[in-house]
Amino acid sequence: MDKRQLFDALDDFSQNLLVTLAEVEAIKKNLKSIVEENTVLRLENDKLRERLGEVERTTPNKGGQGRENLERIYLDGFHICTDFYGQRRDNDEEECAFCNELLFRE
Ligand SMILES: [Zn+2]
Repeated sequence: MDKRQLFDALDDFSQNLLVTLAEVEAIKKNLKSIVEENTVLRLENDKLRERLGEVERTTPNKGGQGRENLERIYLDGFHICTDFYGQRRDNDEEECAFCNELLFRE
């Protein structure tokens, strides 16, 4: 390899490094916005849980809009019980005793 070839190879190498660096920066930026979005969603989730807690405490046990909303969520295939709240029920058909307790208690 003569000097000329060596310099060309180094030019290529530094060019590739610049491209890679730009890619890393783009990934960092992307990750930053995902982390930020995640934080916003976690805060939102906390607020909604808090609000749900208030609604559950102030809503009478019998009937009501809250009960209907919970039932809809349950029928959509999600747990509404405190143990598994918000998690997908493994099998939509499978009954959850804790959820049923909430939905059908007097
Ligand atoms: Zn459940």
